[in-house]
Amino acid sequence: MARIYNFSAGPSMLPEAVLVKAQQEMLDWRGSGMSVMEMSHRGKHFMAIAETMKNDLIELMAIPANYKVLFLQGGASAQFAMIPQNILNGKTTACYVNTGAWSTSAIKEAGKYCEVKTVASSEEGKFTGIPAFEKWRIDPAAAYLHYTSNETIHGVEFNQVPEAGGLPLVCDMSSNILSRSVDVGRYGIIYAGTQKNMGPSGVTVVIVREDLVGLAPKSVPSVFNYQQQANSDSMLNTPATYNWYLLGLVLQWLKAEGGVAAIEQRNIQKADKLYQAIDQSSLYSNPVDKDCRSRMNIPFVLADAALDKEFLKQAELNGLSTLAGHRSVGGMRASIYNAMPEAGVDALIEFMAEFERSH
Ligand SMILES: *Cc1c(COP(=O)(O)O)cnc(C)c1O
Repeated sequence: MARIYNFSAGPSMLPEAVLVKAQQEMLDWRGSGMSVMEMSHRGKHFMAIAETMKNDLIELMAIPANYKVLFLQGGASAQFAMIPQNILNGKTTACYVNTGAWSTSAIKEAGKYCEVKTVASSEEGKFTGIPAFEKWRIDPAAAYLHYTSNETIHGVEFNQVPEAGGLPLVCDMSSNILSRSVDVGRYGIIYAGTQKNMGPSGVTVVIVREDLVGLAPKSVPSVFNYQQQANSDSMLNTPATYNWYLLGLVLQWLKAEGGVAAIEQRNIQKADKLYQAIDQSSLYSNPVDKDCRSRMNIPFVLADAALDKEFLKQAELNGLSTLAGHRSVGGMRASIYNAMPEAGVDALIEFMAEFERSH
């Protein structure tokens, strides 16, 4: 069976080379006589897999030495709670920027633990832009400033790191981590679920600056405590071993592709092409301000919504899958993460043009 182009927002496409490698190593990982799934997480084989994976991430993102890199469970959603639980440090407020559905979820969860000050919001404009940095009202007494660098549903992405007014900057990078170069040193915490741009679901990467580790009150459960997880190499409980392994394969693939800077160039090219096709057509349109359009998730609507069903059906028949927009916004969305080959974007553009001609 031929593989399709899968435009799903997550879980999403993986590099084919990674799947083939996993298949080759499925029954016998490098002469160990077992599958990675069957290994003890404390055994020498898995320890080697874990160490390589972590070092590859540190190398790819150039993570400075004063950061802990954790591999946890519960997704980015768990971090929505773990962040205030771990770093409020006796403070009663935290600052959040609201640029879309995922920011909104983070704000809601943080509200269980502290008073959330929304320093800026683009909700009134239906989340199609980013409020100008000069207008953000950052409270210097807050514990941290949180934002979402790429809004997966609304297709809004930051092209600059915001000024945090002296607060630790906390960023949900779930849907654009490893897609572009990032100066990790600007951040207090970077976190991301792996299922968008790093691998299959089941792992959450948390990169946390050392001074933010060890601040959690005793009441925080051990597995949710950054300090305890850091002290035990994220193995306080049994980790999602196979998912760590697959994440490791994706990182090795990315290194072989030339690393983050190289993939960023390709991502720019892919996204530019698709936006250009949308902007030049009279059937398709994208509502997001041009200076913050996402390179990863590209939503678009058809001028006549009555054609949506037919568009999706025809796309599917052409091997272009999962293009429906999120149920909260409707329309279409093409998620084109690192693993989406340029040929997939070309095929989509060609299909869209043909569909426009025939409708
Ligand atoms: C998908 C996504 C989440 C939620 O991730 P889970 O791993 O399902 O908790 C959070 N934030 C962003 C930006 C996302 O894209």
